[in-house]
Amino acid sequence: MQTIQGKVVVITGASSGLGEATARLLAAKDAKVVLGARRADRINALAADIKIQGGEAIAKVTDVTKLAEVQALVDLAVKTYGRLDVIINNAGLMPSSLLSLLKVEDWERMIDVNLKGVLYGIAAALPIMQTQKSGHIINVSSVSGHKVSPGTAVYAATKHAVRVISEGLRQEVTPFNIRTTILSPGAVATELPDSVTDGPTAQGIKEFYKIAIPAESFARMVAFAIEQPEDVNVNEILFRPTAQE
Ligand code: NDP
Repeated sequence: MQTIQGKVVVITGASSGLGEATARLLAAKDAKVVLGARRADRINALAADIKIQGGEAIAKVTDVTKLAEVQALVDLAVKTYGRLDVIINNAGLMPSSLLSLLKVEDWERMIDVNLKGVLYGIAAALPIMQTQKSGHIINVSSVSGHKVSPGTAVYAATKHAVRVISEGLRQEVTPFNIRTTILSPGAVATELPDSVTDGPTAQGIKEFYKIAIPAESFARMVAFAIEQPEDVNVNEILFRPTAQE
C-alpha cells in the first residue's frame, strides 16, 4: 500500500458533493488538497474547516470551462507544495432532458464542463507529471458512461467520452509512470440533481435519487485507487447503490 500522507491532490468541483467529500477524506489522511470550483465562499469555508481539523488545504476560484483557470489552479498546487501527485477532474453537471426539448444551452454546458473541463485538467497536469515521471489522473465518469436512457443522451455522451479519453490517456502515459483512473458512480446523494432544468425530468431524477448512497462512498473509492502500490494502476471503479438497477 502507498500512503496518501503528503500527496498533493488537486480537486475540481470541490465546493460540494463528491469533490467536497473527497477533499475531506484525503485531507484527514494527511494529503495536501488544492480545491477548485466557482463558488468562492464554499471552497474557502471548506479549506478553513479542513485546517481547523488539522489538515492542509488551499482554495482557488476555478471555472473548468477556462483552460487558463484550470492551469492556474494546478500551478498554485506546484508553487505552494512543490509537486503535483494527483488531479481529480470531478467538476460536472447533469441538466438532463429529452433531446426533443432542444435544450441546446444545457447540451453546451455539459460538453463544456463535463468533457472540455476534464480535457483542460489533463492539459494542465500532464506536462508537470511527465516531467516528474509520476502522477495520477482521476477522471469522473458515471454509470451513465456505460449506458444511456431517454433523457440522458448528452450527459451520457459526455461521460462515455470521459471514459474513452481516460483509456486513451492511460495507453499514452505508461512510459511516464503516470496512473489513470476512471471513477464511475451510480446514484450518490449530492447537489447534482439540482442542475436539472426540465421539470418532469427533475421530478423523475428526484424519485430515482431516493436510493442514493452517501458521498463518502465515492471518497473511499478514490482513496483506494491512490493507496495502491505505485506499480498498480486501478483503471476504473464502477459502483452504485445496492438498490440501483
Ligand atoms: P454536485 O452538484 O454536488 O457538485 C458538482 C461540482 O462541480 C460543484 O462543486 C460545482 O462547483 C462544480 N462545477 C460545476 N460547474 C463548474 C465549472 N464550470 N467550473 C468548476 N466547477 C464546476 O454534484 P456531484 O458531486 O455529484 O458531481 C461531481 C461529479 O460526479 C460530476 O462530474 C458528476 O457528473 C459525477 N457523478 C455524480 C453522480 C451522483 O449521483 N452524484 C453519479 C455519477 C457521476 P461550483 O458550482 O461552485 O463551480
